[in-house]
Amino acid sequence: MNNDDKILIIEDEAPIRRFLDILTTGHGYQVKTVETAREGLKQIIAWNPHLILLDLGLPDADGLDFTKELRSWTDIPIIVISARDKEADKVLALDAGANDYLTKPFGSGELLARIRVALRSNINMGVIDNCKYQFGDVILDLAMQTVTRSGAIIKLTPKEYKIFTLLAKYMGKVLTHKQILKEVWGGNYSEHSHYVRIHIAQLRHKIERCSAQPKYIITENGVGYRLLSDD
Ligand code: CA
Repeated sequence: MNNDDKILIIEDEAPIRRFLDILTTGHGYQVKTVETAREGLKQIIAWNPHLILLDLGLPDADGLDFTKELRSWTDIPIIVISARDKEADKVLALDAGANDYLTKPFGSGELLARIRVALRSNINMGVIDNCKYQFGDVILDLAMQTVTRSGAIIKLTPKEYKIFTLLAKYMGKVLTHKQILKEVWGGNYSEHSHYVRIHIAQLRHKIERCSAQPKYIITENGVGYRLLSDD
């Protein structure tokens, strides 16, 4: 297997660093590993990786602060890999701008799947210029501001449309309840996560073939939602 995707691993724990290195290299990725945030930053600038696997507990920085700092100037996908396994920790990392979050210990199959999704989301950032996203027989057209099923218009409320386009803009990335509330309702609604749940339920009902088993609008329990498209 061979591909051009470059992955930067920032992890100070040697056994995990080695494991991640062997796993990703073995699947054809170009890989560099560093042990500190400082070295990581140097490589991000010099090597321009397509994806970062980031440990939160680094010797010279907190991974959350590092993620926020990166997000002030780059959209490069970040998958946080951490021993902190509380839901609140995941929410903090995602709110800081991480694309995804994986708790140690994790399976190699799951990590590779999440790497593929994150790399795809990076490409899909570009798809927004083409203005169209496909979900089975449903098409979201940002230029026309329409959602159609087999050519027939699906009527969405303005809020539903806003949530759908927001999730599409960050395809594959987990958005927290807080992020969705902030973007769709504005800053004063951050405690109203039930608003999001209600609108997501309505949106699923209109978009998904089977809203009880959603294929596209995926729930991340206690954290938020992510949108997956057809490849
Ligand atoms: Ca560590």
